[in-house]
Amino acid sequence: MANKKPKVVIIGRPNVGKSTLFNRLVGKRIALVDDTPGVTRDRREGEAKLFDLDFIAVDTAGLEDAGPETLSGRMRLQTEAALEDASAALLVIDSRAGLTPMDRHFADWLRTAKVPVVLVANKAEGRSGDSGILEAYALGFGEPVGISAEHGEGLADLFEALAPHVDAAIAAAGDAFEGEDEEAGPLKLAIVGRPNAGKSTLINTLLGQDRLVTGPEAGITRDSIEIEWSWEGRPVRLIDTAGVRKKAKVHEKLEKLSVADTRRAVDFAEVVVLLLDATLGLEAQDLRIADMVIEEGRALVIALNKWDAAEDQSRLFQGVRKALDEGLAQIKGVPLLAVSGMTGKGLDTLLKAAFEQRDAWSQRVPTSRLNRWFEGALERNPPPAPDGKRLKLRYVTQVKARPPSFVIFGNRLTELPESYRRYLANSLRDDLGFTGVPIRLTLRGGK
Ligand code: GDP
Ligand code: GDP
Repeated sequence: MANKKPKVVIIGRPNVGKSTLFNRLVGKRIALVDDTPGVTRDRREGEAKLFDLDFIAVDTAGLEDAGPETLSGRMRLQTEAALEDASAALLVIDSRAGLTPMDRHFADWLRTAKVPVVLVANKAEGRSGDSGILEAYALGFGEPVGISAEHGEGLADLFEALAPHVDAAIAAAGDAFEGEDEEAGPLKLAIVGRPNAGKSTLINTLLGQDRLVTGPEAGITRDSIEIEWSWEGRPVRLIDTAGVRKKAKVHEKLEKLSVADTRRAVDFAEVVVLLLDATLGLEAQDLRIADMVIEEGRALVIALNKWDAAEDQSRLFQGVRKALDEGLAQIKGVPLLAVSGMTGKGLDTLLKAAFEQRDAWSQRVPTSRLNRWFEGALERNPPPAPDGKRLKLRYVTQVKARPPSFVIFGNRLTELPESYRRYLANSLRDDLGFTGVPIRLTLRGGK
């Protein structure tokens, strides 16, 4: 498996701000920035981050022996080499200086290269470069992205323009690029729940050994430990907060300790199993724990434990299902299973569900599929039109997985009602296989 990220080459005539942009993207000021044309610099590469977009940025600044009318052989060679395996090129111009013949040369030359080009009009801070930006349309690379590399303005627009190309490169390369879908590793699992929900009993049964102390009283956790085992040949790493624990008689301290433990466990886990006590039903504290898991962006599975002792089982199950879907609307459809830690009933199904939720939680949706969904969702239920003018939703991208996080770009999105954002989030979840998974959906684009 290759371990390379998509490469984005920054190209343009001297002094337009390539190195400044490179530094902004790479975040380390390793490039030499100078006002004087003629300062020679090497081509440099660095790990770049633009919001959640990860790629390798290549700076081609330097080699100023090029005359204004031609690209020197050396520069051309360097740039060609950089472009060879690039996923996209950023053609930078100086929006205050306006277009020069050399900008046109770069544009003509880039048109022949088989790489998507994003036209960047730099030095546009405070919109001072408006005229240069308009002029740049003439280069034929579509709408120029106005930014200020020096002041960090316009980066969201740059993200919007660049993300599709980087995403497409990742999608085309399958797992050739190193990304979120790093090889899965053991399932990091935490089992949480109120004191006495049956955590230790269930863990004991899962592990098939009596290594944890269980008993009728609630417990105090000392340091939590991690336990490695495997389920059907797949490795599982369990954080045991119920712990190798001492049973407490100090009841007033229990609540506090259990909250801290739960936080620690949730922090560690990819998937959290919340145990409910079927003899007590769903209580407010259970919902608070579930909320915390969702807030932290972890995948959640809910298990109605002590099923062996439950009365009126089907009514109980339906009641809890309904209460969960109402109480946890953000993750409607979260898996709910009936289990008994004591008898072992339902534990295989529980682990199966945990692995499935992790898969969904780690999923990356290809940009093309995502945008097909997006178009459909907007068509089924168009965004509202305050004062008769439609809000414009333009483009969606998944910026990361674990938890799945999406950004929607558009105009005047601050005016978009929360109910519409929720509609999009729910529709995304239902249509793209994220049922019961906490997702993040951010809107970008204010004015
Ligand atoms: P390069 O030759 O294309 O790599 O350009 P540099 O990054 O070395 O920048 C050339 C000059 O433009 C430097 O003086 C920078 O400080 C300046 N510069 C870069 N970006 C901006 C910007 O966004 N706004 C303004 N006003 N100046 C910038
Ligand atoms: P913890 O505080 O969440 O770790 O809960 P424990 O595992 O210590 O269990 C608390 C009490 O519930 C003990 O008396 C257990 O015997 C009982 N218990 C645990 N699991 C089950 C179960 O599946 N069925 C029944 N009937 N009782 C259980």
